[in-house]
Order: sequence, then structure tokens, then C-alpha cells
Amino acid sequence: MNRVYNFSAGPSTLPEEVLKQAADEMLDYKGCGMSVMEMSHRSKVYEEIIHNAEASLRKLMGIPENYKVLFLQGGASLQFAMVPLNLMRKSKRADYVNTGEWAKKAIKEAKRYGEVRVVGSSEEETYNHIPSLNPADFDKEADYFHITSNNTIFGTKFKNLPDTGDVPLVADMSSDILSCPVDVTKYGLIYAGAQKNMGPAGLTVVIVREDLVGHAPDTTPTMLNYKTHADAGSMFNTPPTFAVYIAGMVFDWVLAKGGLVEMEKINVRKANLLYDYLDQSKLFKGTVVKEDRSIMNIPFVTPSAELDAKFIKEAEAQGFVNLKGHRIVGGMRASIYNAMPVEGVEKLVALMKDFEARNA
Ligand code: PMP
Repeated sequence: MNRVYNFSAGPSTLPEEVLKQAADEMLDYKGCGMSVMEMSHRSKVYEEIIHNAEASLRKLMGIPENYKVLFLQGGASLQFAMVPLNLMRKSKRADYVNTGEWAKKAIKEAKRYGEVRVVGSSEEETYNHIPSLNPADFDKEADYFHITSNNTIFGTKFKNLPDTGDVPLVADMSSDILSCPVDVTKYGLIYAGAQKNMGPAGLTVVIVREDLVGHAPDTTPTMLNYKTHADAGSMFNTPPTFAVYIAGMVFDWVLAKGGLVEMEKINVRKANLLYDYLDQSKLFKGTVVKEDRSIMNIPFVTPSAELDAKFIKEAEAQGFVNLKGHRIVGGMRASIYNAMPVEGVEKLVALMKDFEARNA
């Protein structure tokens, strides 16, 4: 077996321990004589799997009882629509911060349902920072205020949450959920695709305050109504059974590592290994302002597209894959989610140093 260091932005590397356990249990899950993939979602065994997954996530994130945890499908992209459809109910207005391509897509979708105001944007500077926000500009009557907590493509992260007062804060946490502790009570709703820090694609996690559920218009398709899934414990229809099973094991893996406080320490250590090198390199440069740097997605460039391509090719030949930046920004991007070992980043930096010595 020859596993590579996989720096993909998502789907991305998963903890090896989890993959091994899944492999062990693939043909016969705990004496059931079948794989989790093959079992009824209504079986006792599966009920326990989904119940335990939710319990582990609640423990990890300290999710209070007045929040529902929903295991859905459709990706974070479906949440771009489900959030306004379910939440834009009183003033039919919402504030959004435009911090990148995903935020832009969320904005575009929300505009179908009501009035969207963009209260901050870093688009003019190719999203290399988080725009400063003035609470005086916020709509006090907005139904919610939306941020993308970590911008996967551009590598920025909100380090300070906007103070939205009584207006529920909604966050797309697709690329930084479980990377550090969060105070769930500061949010009305959190959503994230699983395929970065939680498990395989096909599962979307929504954490929503109870009072925000149940206000969707009657014309809302049943499957797009949070209430449908909240009332049915994410079992209204067949949930993404295998993805939930793997995510549950990933939650337990993070708990065993010491939870989100410890996870953040490791993540900061990994990110700093790369940032410290980038800050003094004569060849590679980070593309984001220091204060707003993500600890999950780290974009960087050399002075030319040719050198970028050469580096990516050499890295790949040595087992460091998926370092190509998103097509919109070019250059390189190292996504170093929870499951990327420290050693992977150490070796990447060593590779970059060697490349610099030969090409600077
Ligand atoms: N939001 C963010 C921040 C993302 O990184 C992504 C995917 N990379 C999405 C939304 C879209 O997610 P999905 O593919 O699950 O719809």
C-alpha cells in the first residue's frame, strides 16, 4: 500500500484509523453479517449508528439542547437555497458578506427568495482578506446575517464574528467545521458539507436553533423544509447511511484526540509550519493578508505560472498530490484539514525548501 499526502480541498484526506476500521467492518459490521451500506436505515443497528453520530457531534461542538442536528443531503450548495427558503420569513431581507466564490453563490441563490444586502466584500482585492464590517451598516430587521466562516478557495477565515445582535448569524462552515472550538450559541444556523473535515461526500450537517425551524412557506417542497428533518430525526427518508457512519467514526476520532481545543492546537501548529516558511521564502509567497489566514486552506504562488506547474509536477511525483490551486486563483493550495498529519506538512515544507534551493 502506498498512500500519498493528499492536499485536496475536498473530498479530502480522512483519518487512516477510521478508514482501517471501516475496512475491518466492511463485510460484517459488528456481527450483523452485512456492511453498513447494506442495512436498512430503520434497523436497530443503524438507528444506533446515527444516534451515536449525533451524540458525538453534540459532545464535540457542545451543541445545546435547543439546537437540532440534521443529517441531510444536497451538499452545502443546497443550503444556499434552504437557508433563505426557511429563514427569510419576516422582513424577507438578509445581510451577506461576500468573501469568495462560495459566498457569491450563496448570495445569488438567496436573491431568489428576498432582498439581499451585501454588507462587506473583498471581491475587489481578489478576496485576499476578510472585509472589515461596521455593525452600524447591518440591517436590524434582517431575517439573518450570513457569513462563510472559512473561504476554501482563497484561504481566509473569520477570526472575529460580526456582532449581529438579535439577528441570527448563519455560517457556511464547510471548510473549517471541527477545526477549532466554536460557541454554537452565537449562531442561529451552521451548515457544512461533510467532505472536508467530517467524512465522505453525500452528507451535509445542519445545526439549527429550534425557534428558526417551522416557518417555511406552505409551498416549500417537503424535503427542503428543515421541519421535516427535525421532526423525523433526520430519518424522514433514507439518510446517507454510509456517510453518517463514517462521519460518526471521524467525530469519535476527534474526541479521542482531545476534542476541538486539541484539534485547534495541532491545526495551528501545522498551518504555522507552512506560513513561517512562506513568510521568509524567496520563491514562494502566501496570497492572503496575515490577520485573516485560514488554518485549513493555504494558497501560495511562485513568481511564474511555469514554476508553479513545475513544482506541482515534482510534488506529485513524490507523493504530494492535489496541490494545484483552484482554477480561479491558480498557483498552489495546500488544504490541511484535521486528518492531514503534522508529518505531511513538515515533509511538504522540506520539499518546498528543496525546490526553492534549486529554482530561486
Ligand atoms: N461552501 C464552501 C465554503 C465550500 O468549500 C464548498 C465546497 N468546496 C461549498 C460551499 C459547496 O459544497 P458542496 O459541494 O457540498 O455543495
